[in-house]
Amino acid sequence: MEMNKKGILTVVSGFSGAGKGTLMKELLKKYDGYMLSISATTRKPREGEVDGREYFFKQTEEFEKMIQDGQFIEYANYVGNYYGTPKAYVDEQLAKGKDVILEIEIQGALKVKERFPDTLLLFVTPPAADELERRLAGRGTEDEKTIRNRLCRAYEEAEGVEEYDYLLINDKLEECVDMMHNIIQSEHYRTSRN
Ligand code: 5GP
Repeated sequence: MEMNKKGILTVVSGFSGAGKGTLMKELLKKYDGYMLSISATTRKPREGEVDGREYFFKQTEEFEKMIQDGQFIEYANYVGNYYGTPKAYVDEQLAKGKDVILEIEIQGALKVKERFPDTLLLFVTPPAADELERRLAGRGTEDEKTIRNRLCRAYEEAEGVEEYDYLLINDKLEECVDMMHNIIQSEHYRTSRN
């Protein structure tokens, strides 16, 4: 079976406190071939954040000019600030066969999926969601999809999360890193069959 030569585009979203940042860092440390896209934003840098490392920090006018110039794959307004994924870098890395990861919120993720239907959508939750899922499963009346839907509905702010391909429970970091790696690598085989 021939591997898909082009990289896989993966979007990672999740509640704050799910440990997405650490998960990405560990994935990139442990495995080769992954690139993390750096977003542009109009929010002010937090202490310790460096322009071009966590984000490309922009003025609103500058960001709006980038929108007009079609420089983003997607952008969203999140709690009063713009956030956007620059297109050029992602295109370039995917063409090189790198697996590109975007860490963005749900609305942006759904826009990416609309534009690139092959995008893999992963949702990371803290372990508490796992407990909820177990309890729902314990009722014994619901099938998997219903449980997933209920789990999603339990988190009102997570509207749209039912579109995601996988729910990753970040219980043990090391296991979660490996699981994420395995999911993305399987996707190479799956998409090369089409
Ligand atoms: P923060 O301000 O805490 O760094 O990020 C706030 C939210 O914006 C997070 O949920 C993060 O995933 C999301 N985000 C970061 N970059 C982008 C982006 O390029 N596009 C979209 N849609 N969301 C983003």
